[in-house]
Amino acid sequence: MPAIHLPAPLPDFLVTPIQAEHEIELKPSANARALVVTGGFAVQESLLNSLPNLEIISVFGVGYDGVPISLCRQRGIRVTNTPDVLTEDVADIATALVLMTSRRLGEAERHARAGSWVQGAFPLAHALRGKTAGILGLGHIGKAVAHRLLAHGMKIAYHGRRPQPVEYHYCGSLIELAETSDFLVVACPGGDETRHLINAGVLRALGAGGTLINIARGSVVDEGALIQALQTGVIRGAGLDVFENEPHIPAQLTACVNTVLLPHVGSATHETRRAMAQLVVENLSAHFAGKPLITPVC
Ligand code: NAP
Repeated sequence: MPAIHLPAPLPDFLVTPIQAEHEIELKPSANARALVVTGGFAVQESLLNSLPNLEIISVFGVGYDGVPISLCRQRGIRVTNTPDVLTEDVADIATALVLMTSRRLGEAERHARAGSWVQGAFPLAHALRGKTAGILGLGHIGKAVAHRLLAHGMKIAYHGRRPQPVEYHYCGSLIELAETSDFLVVACPGGDETRHLINAGVLRALGAGGTLINIARGSVVDEGALIQALQTGVIRGAGLDVFENEPHIPAQLTACVNTVLLPHVGSATHETRRAMAQLVVENLSAHFAGKPLITPVC
């Protein structure tokens, strides 16, 4: 049975089927021919060096920004991820964050729960219809978010590295997208290329009526600049599923009433996590059977 190294805990519904066909190793060794990690796991070069016979890295997630892809290419290590199966759930969470921030639902829920309603009605919030959602990264998730927000009467604009054959308005720069948007939804990959794309200038362009939504990766947003923009009214609010230093959320963010904060739950449903686990297992089985990978990254 091929040996698989698991450097960090994974859910039972993933470990059990892996164990059925492979030997699991919790410590790195020359036996290991595969590595299975979550999307947020940083695969260090030192870990790769301790796995001299590694053939494949199977990522339990769509984002593979924690994997040094060029190094893997150099060593001929294949990489797989779990695209598509999580798209709809993540788009639901992005939509939920848009609704929660616009209608102040987190605050309203806390108001009701605290018994504050008897002291007066909850303040008015903002409607979605007629507002513009600007999507940074119109990929699988970005498109599913656009589809949902259209149903709320919103207009859609987007920015990516190139225009796409879609009916939405393409903005040639991120600043233009931010200026156009009431809600700026981050849905591009993480990694060096997108690090701190959302900076102080972009937040100024989003403006005092604007809200930032991030369901992509914490690294895309300069969190210090975001905190300052929230504290000083440069933007109206933020809905965040991901953070720069997960699972740690800065106290300044938790102190901001104009934020909705989620613990990276974009794909966290029974149905989706099981579908992701199945893809991980199918990719490993295909690799060891000498068949084409189901969802190869490289
Ligand atoms: P995808 O289909 O590959 O879409 C990514 C989009 O980002 C593409 O349309 C691409 O468009 C755009 N993009 C890439 N590089 C860019 C850049 N430098 N500047 C601007 N746009 C860029 O991926 P997906 O399945 O939608 O997933 C997107 C990301 O969501 C993942 O990488 C992952 O990090 C994150 N995610 C988060 C959760 C969660 O739980 N919160 C769950 C799943 C995924 P162009 O090529 O035209 O630029």
